[in-house]
Amino acid sequence: MIDLSLSEEQKGLQKLAKEFAQKEITPVALQYDKESTFPGDIIKKAHAAGLMNLTCPKEYGGLGLGLVNASLITEELTAACVAIAGMIGINSLACGPILAGGSDEQKRRFLIPLNQSGKTASFGLTEREAGSDAGSLKTGAKLEGDHYVLNGQKCFITNASYAAFYTIFATLDPAKGTKGICAFVVPREAQGLSIGKIEDKMGQRALNVAEVILENVIVPREDRLGNEGEGFKFAMEALDEGRVNIATCGVGIARAAFEASLAYAKTRIQFGKAIGTFQALNFMLADMAAAVDSARLIAWYAGSLADHGKRYTREAAQAKFYATDVAMRVTMDAVQIHGGYGYTKDYLVEKLMRDAKLTQIYEGTNQINRMVAGGALMRG
Ligand SMILES: Cc1cc2nc3c(=O)[nH]c(=O)nc-3n(C[C@H](O)[C@H](O)[C@H](O)COP(=O)(O)OP(=O)(O)OC[C@H]3O[C@@H](n4cnc5c(N)ncnc54)[C@H](O)[C@@H]3O)c2cc1C
Repeated sequence: MIDLSLSEEQKGLQKLAKEFAQKEITPVALQYDKESTFPGDIIKKAHAAGLMNLTCPKEYGGLGLGLVNASLITEELTAACVAIAGMIGINSLACGPILAGGSDEQKRRFLIPLNQSGKTASFGLTEREAGSDAGSLKTGAKLEGDHYVLNGQKCFITNASYAAFYTIFATLDPAKGTKGICAFVVPREAQGLSIGKIEDKMGQRALNVAEVILENVIVPREDRLGNEGEGFKFAMEALDEGRVNIATCGVGIARAAFEASLAYAKTRIQFGKAIGTFQALNFMLADMAAAVDSARLIAWYAGSLADHGKRYTREAAQAKFYATDVAMRVTMDAVQIHGGYGYTKDYLVEKLMRDAKLTQIYEGTNQINRMVAGGALMRG
């Protein structure tokens, strides 16, 4: 039999995250959303509480958790606010390429100071003309003696304004396609690196997202990850884990929307009855509960494959598009259950619906994740 009950250790992680979320995130989530505030103070507290750098191995200063255990924490944090949770968790994506392709020396040099200090980093792949087709990126890397010179512009980079360093993907020669791409670690203070436009977003407004401009940035050879031409592979490996994480974000958002809707449906009276007793809404609530549970299971399944050292690219993509589509559907239903009040900023579900939309777009749109999963199916 498959036992899905949590161990005492897992319950402890969940409890720690839930208590932190209720104390530090829930009370300020609407305000941070309204003012689009960067949650630097909450990140510091999350670091002190042992809720950051979840999957980074202990030897490099992380908590060394598996993906399923990490998802227990992430679900609790995202149920309180996915944007604040996203800023707390950004290092897992930003550092993924270092773990995938870095040498032991590079992992120690880049990850230990980051993880110990509680600072955050960024993952720099996307460009204006290279979004879904990330392999067509144009940021150039030219080898000159013992260093590379980087020129180009990245967009939509989460945490760009606050990162201690960036994992930047650049090409030796665009004609080589994905085979020409290298991954580099570029510190914030590198000369020629600057921050461009900061995005004003529909939802997840506490998430800092901006352009990163690279003008003749010198990167020593020893800060290239792996071999020349391996960068794209490292980006995709980081995205496998990232997609399980985003699936869990979908679960957290959907759960919050369901819980708010259930509470509202029990207390809002129309026609002399609680609205949750009307079959139309009652069935909607049943569908929402089933969707949240199934989204959680598909995310755990992908995570458990990773934890057992199995390939999980297809399952991570499936979990990402499925759970985030659930988040969108459940949050739309949540607004519907709240009627006119759900459409106002006085109620949490309005924020949840805006926040959910982004989960269908970043870390590969859900169309691209369906292509990843569908392609894997056809290859057998
Ligand atoms: C808030 C936010 C944070 C982000 N954070 C980061 C980050 O930290 N680092 C980073 O590198 N990137 C980041 N991104 C970028 C994100 O991953 C891209 O926005 C996403 O991959 C889509 O690229 P695009 O926006 O250029 O859309 P496009 O690629 O232009 O897509 C437009 C539409 O066309 C569809 N489409 C494209 N190609 C196909 C196809 N072959 N088949 C079917 N449909 C297709 C897409 O699904 C989409 O619906 C972030 C984006 C946002 C909005």
